[in-house]
Amino acid sequence: LLKIHNLSKSFDNGKTKVLDTVSFELEKGRVLTIVGESGSGKTTLIRLIAGLETPDDGIVELNDTILSSVDIMVRAEKRNVGLVFQDYALFPHMTVQENIMYGIHKQHDKKERVAEVLELVGLSGFESRYPHQLSGGQQQRVALARALAPRPEVLILDEPFSNLDVILKDQLRREIFEIIHKTGVTAIFVTHDTDDALSVSDSIIVLQKGKMIQNATAFELFNAPKTPYVASLFSAVV
Ligand code: ATP
Repeated sequence: LLKIHNLSKSFDNGKTKVLDTVSFELEKGRVLTIVGESGSGKTTLIRLIAGLETPDDGIVELNDTILSSVDIMVRAEKRNVGLVFQDYALFPHMTVQENIMYGIHKQHDKKERVAEVLELVGLSGFESRYPHQLSGGQQQRVALARALAPRPEVLILDEPFSNLDVILKDQLRREIFEIIHKTGVTAIFVTHDTDDALSVSDSIIVLQKGKMIQNATAFELFNAPKTPYVASLFSAVV
């Protein structure tokens, strides 16, 4: 269970409040989507969960262990949180195998694990390719394989489809979430695309100017939006 309690963060010496007392819980194996317009605090929230940012206030807790608080800060590498970014972030000078191995810290049979995760994402035999020899969708699947290789407890995907064309995006979205469900990993998916949010999530959080406006299922957001803003986001989708 991932618990976020009253998380707050400001930048510029407290002048810009980017996250304001955000709280939610996410059960193991569930997929949560965070939606909100540009600047609403989505990236800051996931950076806090991943341990790339320290909170001003509040707690990040995973399976009853505090990962972040005002006093405690477990290092990002020790958190068991995997990340997939929008720009793939593969190392261009490393092969697929080297890229994936880079994410594995402790396991012994690294090559075996690489083969395993490549099979999972449908890219068996691609070990010795370089990123420039792969399509955008393949690169994104390698990034997913790399994030899954150390068997993370929580997987965070930050706008993973934003650099892809529409047809590829729909197909890849389906594939990626099939893989995620297969592994049973708890996933947090960041997007500004409400269509994406509706199609893959168990629950959806709407952020607006750093505040969590609503945390609900797609059905509830659509049928009982708490504010006109939420209604405007989800009514446009149908
Ligand atoms: P986008 O969809 O554009 O990625 P977002 O919802 O992810 O936006 P954040 O990246 O979390 O939003 O940014 C929220 C606000 O915090 C923005 O106004 C941004 O300028 C500000 N911000 C983020 N990081 C920093 C930083 N390191 N220093 C100062 N301001 C920051």
